Amino acid sequence: MSSTAQIGVTGLAVMGSNLARNFARNGFTVAVHNRTAAKTKALVEEFGHEGAFVPAETAREFVAALERPRRLIIMVKAGEPTDAVIREFAPLLEPGDVIIDGGNAHFEDTRRRERELREQGIHFVGVGISGGEEGALLGPSIMPGGSAESYASLGPLLEKISAKAADGTPCTSHVGPDGAGHFVKMVHNGIEYADMQLIAEAYHLLREVAGYSPARIAQTFRTWNEGRLDSYLIEITAEVLAHTDAATGRPYVDVVADAAEQKGTGRWTVQIALDLGVPVSGIAEAVFARSVSGHSALRAASADLAGPRPTALSGEAADAFAARVEQALYASKIVSYTQGFHQIRAGSDEYGWGVDLGAVASLWRGGCIIRAAFLDRIRAAYDARPDLPSLLADADFAREIGAAQDDWRAVLGEAVRQGIPVPAFAASLSYYDALRAERLPAALTQGQRDFFGAHTYRRTDREGSYHTLWSGDR
Ligand code: NAP
Repeated sequence: MSSTAQIGVTGLAVMGSNLARNFARNGFTVAVHNRTAAKTKALVEEFGHEGAFVPAETAREFVAALERPRRLIIMVKAGEPTDAVIREFAPLLEPGDVIIDGGNAHFEDTRRRERELREQGIHFVGVGISGGEEGALLGPSIMPGGSAESYASLGPLLEKISAKAADGTPCTSHVGPDGAGHFVKMVHNGIEYADMQLIAEAYHLLREVAGYSPARIAQTFRTWNEGRLDSYLIEITAEVLAHTDAATGRPYVDVVADAAEQKGTGRWTVQIALDLGVPVSGIAEAVFARSVSGHSALRAASADLAGPRPTALSGEAADAFAARVEQALYASKIVSYTQGFHQIRAGSDEYGWGVDLGAVASLWRGGCIIRAAFLDRIRAAYDARPDLPSLLADADFAREIGAAQDDWRAVLGEAVRQGIPVPAFAASLSYYDALRAERLPAALTQGQRDFFGAHTYRRTDREGSYHTLWSGDR
């Protein structure tokens, strides 16, 4: 077999097949391989006309089909299957070759694999890919980690197949060494959880307090999507809410069980944030909200607990409330991105990745689930000031969130009064207030710690570390 393929994809389930087709449609010759060979055959039979595919039945054939330095993408189940595939292919490769893992790997696994393969002279590149099946085919947002040398070989291909932002910029760039790409993808998913939960809370309030029907809320979201909230998630929310269940004729959203599931990347984001000491409270509440929704026995056992039942507003009052919800949603969204970018900065500092936050905002502008008009402004904020300590320190965002805060508080007040759970809205506002507080009650916490554990404290009026002899003072 002659070595003609510029790229290879092994693992031809939905993501791998679509990615291989995307490369082929963009003019690259793509070697394709799957553990179960029938899938390789089926892909070439069905989509062979789209471009140049080189089907390979064995690992050896697959490797032999690739131009040097070889670039092969693994698109199999994350975890042990990825290690199994690496064990199978690595002995067949040569120094300078590049193994790319496009699965949803934990960044610590990526760091380990990169370290192990580096000893063999093989570049291992963990790549975060967002956009689901459709993105993989039509242009995803791509977050590659790994060495700068591997990006020099791989980057031009990724830039070709990635989504493009409205200004034509490819939605990919080298994020940083070893696990940086998968780390940024993980935080992307954490922000996605927060965005989805905030939208869900906005829907809940519009339904229960404004008394809007799902169709009316769909219309409201469509209108919001024309303004500063313009984003993929708001757009699809309107579609979901406008959808009618074919079997019953009822709104789709009313026939779906209200127990949200999760695959784990949101949980990873929060676990790592705890390790890094980064307060991602909005993202954490979004993960917990899914968890609460799934505890059906606990919810059933608690259904008779005392509390108000919502009563809906009507007419102009309802519409005025809906406008306030838009302000609360926007302000809370600014907070969740602030927290997510803080986590990326902290990860980058911890692992020495040198991640450019403006570039991350840029590559999320198209192809991915959290794509939003708003990311253009985040990019501009970090481009203007790469060392910006927080998005809330940007004058434009600070002004906007300041302008929204009266309505944000009014919405939360109404939610509390009417007994509607708004964990992500509330956590976001508390984060905002904690950052702007002149004094926090943490001084008391320090006193308690010193009392029971002699943990010492610092004073406001002099340098040094102090301990009070509490028993003597009592
Ligand atoms: P998947 O269901 O996660 O994985 C199926 C693929 O893995 C098949 O090709 C299967 O081969 C292969 N596989 C499983 N165990 C294997 C092993 N021990 N050795 C060799 N191959 C093995 O497929 P997917 O949904 O297309 O996702 C692929 C990767 O992309 C995953 O890591 C996923 O997390 C990630 N991802 C998915 C999405 C999405 O929207 N679905 C988005 C971004 C990233 P056989 O055909 O032989 O069983």
